[in-house]
Amino acid sequence: PSSDRVIVAVRVRPFSQREKNFGSKCVVSMHSRTTLTVQDPKNPEHVKTFTFDLAYWSHSGFQKDKDGVLISADPTSKFAGQRDVFHDIGRGILDSAWQGYNATLLAYGQTGSGKSYSMIGFGANKGIIPSVCEELFQAIENQGRNQEYQVTFSMLEIYNEQIRDLLSRTKKLGGLKVREDQQLGFYVEGLKSVPCENYAQIEKLMEQGTKIRTTASTNMNTSSSRSHMVITIQLKQVFLDKALTKQSSINLVDLAGSERQRSSGAEGDRLKEGSRVNLSLTSLGNVISALADAAIGKKVLHIPYRDSVLTKLLQSALGGNSRTTLIAAISPADICYEETLSTLRYAERAKKVRNNAVVNTWSRA
Ligand code: ADP
Ligand code: MG
Repeated sequence: PSSDRVIVAVRVRPFSQREKNFGSKCVVSMHSRTTLTVQDPKNPEHVKTFTFDLAYWSHSGFQKDKDGVLISADPTSKFAGQRDVFHDIGRGILDSAWQGYNATLLAYGQTGSGKSYSMIGFGANKGIIPSVCEELFQAIENQGRNQEYQVTFSMLEIYNEQIRDLLSRTKKLGGLKVREDQQLGFYVEGLKSVPCENYAQIEKLMEQGTKIRTTASTNMNTSSSRSHMVITIQLKQVFLDKALTKQSSINLVDLAGSERQRSSGAEGDRLKEGSRVNLSLTSLGNVISALADAAIGKKVLHIPYRDSVLTKLLQSALGGNSRTTLIAAISPADICYEETLSTLRYAERAKKVRNNAVVNTWSRA
């Protein structure tokens, strides 16, 4: 057993068109591969410094290659593109999975900060999830005859504390239920888990799932930025010659936008929705705070995992049997200063959380 700290990365995206139109100023700068500073636009001499395990500068110093992939504009550029992020974080997840550890990746940040871009990506700029899946199957194809592999894929959405299976076309009224098992911990009852044999299958499932997610939110006249998406990939490796099995569960989570939900003016369903979405995200914050306190030796009697659907499903990812990474996505613009600061503070707290990952392995008697 090893005691692993949660790894925290931060990523700064380019200006959006809207920010450019506003004539936004960049208030974030990066000084090393780990350190960022943020300047208060109202008090320019007020500069805060944050240090993380990894900092990715994706704000400037890039150009498009012939396929539309964003790459460094010149060799001195500190720009980090999708491949760079995959190289550290994606590879880390795959390494853990091969060894038989559970792995979790969470993307946190306000709406429009680049969570989905990092996790899923857009067009030629593939995100961590497709790249992880692609390399997973590449590695499987290159393995010897003495190993067997099983990969399954599931994809769900948490909205209003209700779980929706994104791989199922029929919507279950009231959503799927979270159950608790003595050994397995919390799990979603009746969730589709599809066996996959190649990357193309996963790619198709992800496309279907994303479509169902968007259609559902359009029908309800809401934005998918208010829901959490959880993709789980199970990898089972059977080593025939050693009569040994290793199993790993990879959780990839695109969280709802972290911006404060404005309650003023919202009524009925909108209000309920706002407070409910906050419940999962607020609970996540509470669990992280409690774990961070516990890690520095404070007396913590209770970790409130049971408060929300999200924290139940992420129980082992937070303080438990998983190697966990958080990627905090931020906007560089002055108009987003407050949200950026709040995201960086959240990420600071997550750095303190300790997990206890163990290899999930067993041998046939
Ligand atoms: P979120 O999922 O946090 O709401 P998105 O990932 O959808 O935000 O990003 C918002 C917009 O910013 C998208 O148009 C996306 O293409 C762009 N974007 C985000 N991060 C990057 C990045 N690192 N490089 C280039 N464009 C980005
Ligand atoms: Mg998104």
